[in-house]
Amino acid sequence: MTRTPLQSLLVTGGAGFIGSNFVHFWRKRHPNARLTVLDALTYSGNRANLQGADGVDLIVGDICDEALVDRLLADRAIDTIVHFAAESHVDRSIAGPDAFVRTNILGTHALLKAARRAWLKERSRPHLFHHVSTDEVYGTLGPDDPAFSETTPYAPNSPYSASKAASDHLVRAYHHSYGLQTTVSNCSNNYGPFQFPEKLIPLFLLNALQGKPLPIYGDGMQVRDWLHVEDHCEGVSLILEGGQPGECYNVGGGAELPNLQVIDTLCAVLDRLFATDPALAGRFPDAPPARGLPMASLKSFVADRPGHDRRYAIDCSKLMRELGYRPARSFGEGLEATVAWYLAHEPWWRAILDGSYREPGRAPGGAH
Ligand code: NAD
Repeated sequence: MTRTPLQSLLVTGGAGFIGSNFVHFWRKRHPNARLTVLDALTYSGNRANLQGADGVDLIVGDICDEALVDRLLADRAIDTIVHFAAESHVDRSIAGPDAFVRTNILGTHALLKAARRAWLKERSRPHLFHHVSTDEVYGTLGPDDPAFSETTPYAPNSPYSASKAASDHLVRAYHHSYGLQTTVSNCSNNYGPFQFPEKLIPLFLLNALQGKPLPIYGDGMQVRDWLHVEDHCEGVSLILEGGQPGECYNVGGGAELPNLQVIDTLCAVLDRLFATDPALAGRFPDAPPARGLPMASLKSFVADRPGHDRRYAIDCSKLMRELGYRPARSFGEGLEATVAWYLAHEPWWRAILDGSYREPGRAPGGAH
């Protein structure tokens, strides 16, 4: 099998957080590549995330719709699928796991079947199916355990991570059973532009600006490895260009931190910005610094999430050694840049908070 030409990419979930960052990243690096986004525009998908991505076609549709995927693969001569589409929020999976089983397991399987039909049935064509997954499939670590590696046994603890684990296994099986050329990446907690404000960093940032409580689960000492989304995109790009079919690669940011430290750092960044830019108090009069109080005064401890994994840590030395991956941003730099992005894109997040981002035809304030 010759290496995939990467001429025509189908990016599933490309209107979501990581997918849209990947689309912008790939468009900049490969201005002539053909890019098609397939996205159902669920609550976390947003047309505005793709504003400024010239020549990218957004097809609003469901990855479970096999006939649609068949048509896209044929009509657009797709040679590479980069699969981000998923239900992605752990709390939602605990409240209602069905959507996670449907999209993450059945949806991934629908894509695999369509890929097999398009690429392997008559004449085998150069292709690649890259599946984006999570470090949560590995379960949880004790304080002194070694970080997750690609050979760590799977032990998912939430319906979200169980559904991602199942999809990883299906991708693996399609490689071994049918010879589909697949790669898988398992990454840690991402943060950066366009992240839906239900995840920790954007939720706490926007709550802080509005003077709302910062609800910290349990004792706040759950440890995560924080990965700036552009470093993640770089990792995926290296895998697309040089990864070995059938292989899995961990992608991490080298920033293992307890949630409480992330929240305190975020509060400190905001306090400093309010102290140096008096206009912020006018824009956000309900934020504590506008009333002479520190952002940290909003911290409030709430009951822990059921089955909350205590620690994730990711060993990405395989990706570093084999494909030259290096996360380019420290957590401090990445967080400063993220706060600056949200401050500069208020119409984008206001439209999410008031629900108007879901109105047909509307795409405010999304330029990258
Ligand atoms: P997201 O929720 O922001 O985006 C998911 C996108 O998928 C949305 O645009 C949504 O509309 C789309 N989608 C959902 N169901 C669909 C369906 N049935 N058909 C077509 N499109 C559908 O998620 P994200 O944070 O960007 O995550 C992207 C991928 O990365 C996911 O596979 C997730 O499991 C994985 N991941 C995310 C993180 C993280 O920190 N965000 C960490 C590890 C792995």
